[in-house]
Amino acid sequence: MSTVTAYAAPSASAPLEKTTITRREVGPHDVAFDIHFSGICHSDIHTVRDEWGRARYPVVPGHEIAGVVTAVGAEVTKFAVGDRVGVGCFVDSCRECEQCRAGEEQYCTGGGMVGTYNAVGRDGQQTQGGYSGAIVVDENYVLRIPEGLPLDAAAPLLCAGITLYSPLRHWNVGDGTRVAIIGLGGLGHMGVKLADAMGAHVTVLSQSLKKMEDGLRLGADEYYATADRDTFKKLRGSFDVILNTVSANLDMGGYLGLLKVDGTLVELGMPEKPMSVPAHPLAGGRRSLSGSMIGGIAETQEMLDFCAEHGVLPEIEVITPDYINEAYDRVVASDVRYRFVIDTATLRG
Ligand code: NAP
Ligand code: ZN
Ligand code: ZN
Repeated sequence: MSTVTAYAAPSASAPLEKTTITRREVGPHDVAFDIHFSGICHSDIHTVRDEWGRARYPVVPGHEIAGVVTAVGAEVTKFAVGDRVGVGCFVDSCRECEQCRAGEEQYCTGGGMVGTYNAVGRDGQQTQGGYSGAIVVDENYVLRIPEGLPLDAAAPLLCAGITLYSPLRHWNVGDGTRVAIIGLGGLGHMGVKLADAMGAHVTVLSQSLKKMEDGLRLGADEYYATADRDTFKKLRGSFDVILNTVSANLDMGGYLGLLKVDGTLVELGMPEKPMSVPAHPLAGGRRSLSGSMIGGIAETQEMLDFCAEHGVLPEIEVITPDYINEAYDRVVASDVRYRFVIDTATLRG
């Protein structure tokens, strides 16, 4: 076991504070790496503030992790010391169920994926995430970060990037597909960039026009304020696919009406409370309401390679760990442009 400096939430209401945690010995199939950067995802905030009701304190959040390998176990074949690597939202799964065998470990039905933090690993230990100096992960759950991607900007791809890439691929978004992204935050801005790189016609639906210039620069073709009720009249029946990245409850009926006949609204945001869905806009257009959660290991690697090839990188604000609590408040206030990434240099031993 080794001791590592980390930032942990001691309870739902207390600020995150500096602490120490332990990491397991490097097993035969494990990769140990120094964490260089860790993104702040809104899911970190939902978890530590116990909005999902499953928090195990203390929680060290962080599932957008990028760093450099320091040691590998005797039987590791995929990675070597010095490699640039990443870890996303999960660090293990059953490896045997239909989903695991199909490379969709995020939907593991053999006990569920093991979250990078706030879960219990096979060793019976609580997992602790990326707001820390180092981590030990089985090689099958580690990603390779391509040469063209800087480590700081690569970090948010491990959750925000794959969470948008996977549904865009699943719903066959390509040349000319009319896609709308609701919410221009960490997930949303990656949706704009990725959908644009795939050739789609991209529309942002944001609460206001405050970030319109950014949205158009990031690759959107159109940008509308949802606070303006005319938006819903004007865009009625416009989209093949709508990706909802909002962290709060929305009036789903209004958004479903923006889909074409047979269009799909994919729920990506995970607000604290259930949302109500009216039947009329669904039935009266044979529309679908679906959801999607991150992506499997193979698809995450494919996404990283795609981002390197197409120069798709998140827009980040790099912070030091002592700014985490302020960054949380800014994310909740939709004041993030567009992902906070923690430089973990001061946490490394
Ligand atoms: P974020 O950076 O805070 O972005 C969320 C955006 O939603 C905000 O920037 C804002 O965009 C909009 N928004 C916030 N509050 C709103 C409100 N009351 N009404 C309307 N719009 C509002 O968060 P994120 O990290 O992108 O995560 C977004 C959600 O996705 C979270 O619930 C998170 O837990 C979830 N998530 C899901 C997955 C998955 O696999 N499905 C993966 C990661 C995260 P505008 O300012 O443009 O309106
Ligand atoms: Zn996340
Ligand atoms: Zn499984």
